[in-house]
Amino acid sequence: MDKWRIRIGPAGIPLSCKGRTNKDGIVYVKKVLDLDAMEIQLIRSFEMMDDEEAEFIRNYAKENDIELHVHAPYYTNLAGDSEEVELSKFKILSSGRIANKLDAKILVIHPGFYGEKSEKETMDLIVENLKDIVSTFKKEGIKTKLGVETMGKRKVFGSLDEIIEVCKKVKEVVPVIDLGHIHARCNGCLKEREDFERIFEKVKPLKLKRYLVHVTGVLYENGNEYYHIPIKKGDMPLEPLLNLILDEKYNVTLISESPLLEHDAMYIKIMIERLIQRRTGKDKVSYKDLSGL
Ligand SMILES: [Zn+2]
Repeated sequence: MDKWRIRIGPAGIPLSCKGRTNKDGIVYVKKVLDLDAMEIQLIRSFEMMDDEEAEFIRNYAKENDIELHVHAPYYTNLAGDSEEVELSKFKILSSGRIANKLDAKILVIHPGFYGEKSEKETMDLIVENLKDIVSTFKKEGIKTKLGVETMGKRKVFGSLDEIIEVCKKVKEVVPVIDLGHIHARCNGCLKEREDFERIFEKVKPLKLKRYLVHVTGVLYENGNEYYHIPIKKGDMPLEPLLNLILDEKYNVTLISESPLLEHDAMYIKIMIERLIQRRTGKDKVSYKDLSGL
């Protein structure tokens, strides 16, 4: 078994990083923030990445032990009409090719909308289209896994249960646990340790070696997300989650999706290290070294 490891990083180029390319971003994640994960966002219109930049990022990540993920464009609908599905598949496949060049672990995607369809019809369509994408990935030799994200609005497909079912039906697909979205969708249900425990218990049958987890504060009403807010301004407490991770020795990658991006990634880091200090009695600790726990 791999060594137990918590990883932390921002969803995208850090805000305080002067250069605005992903290449600048990953160097900043290492040199300034000293974090060890990054989720590259291919969300605006359709950003492509040239081979030279991709190669630099891949090598830099490898040499500096930074775990990479990629987020596909936000608007994809694998349960829409045929035109919409084709366009979504194109966006996902193009992102998959980039993710593979980067040697990224997971390509994060948004599955789709119910529209006028029943939950079951939506599920069937999404599963069918995901199988199709997975087989194209295989044909093209794309090794990056497809990660389907839990979604924060009730009219959007993607409750935790739905995402887990999708992953059971399409073996090569993994869940991306967006805690802000889960919290919004259940109208603020993530409060206590047991609430977070329930999430990991549900995902357990998928036997994942590592969990990709999105963290942010979130503003919501009636089970619908409005927008992301800084972690401290939200009402989802981090400490019970982090204590659970430390107790159960979960391999997690915590990606900050907060509007404060890297500042909240650093906030997560500080909180974990405070908990490690409390547990070990040591002054100098790092979330990258969990050996004393
Ligand atoms: Zn997302």
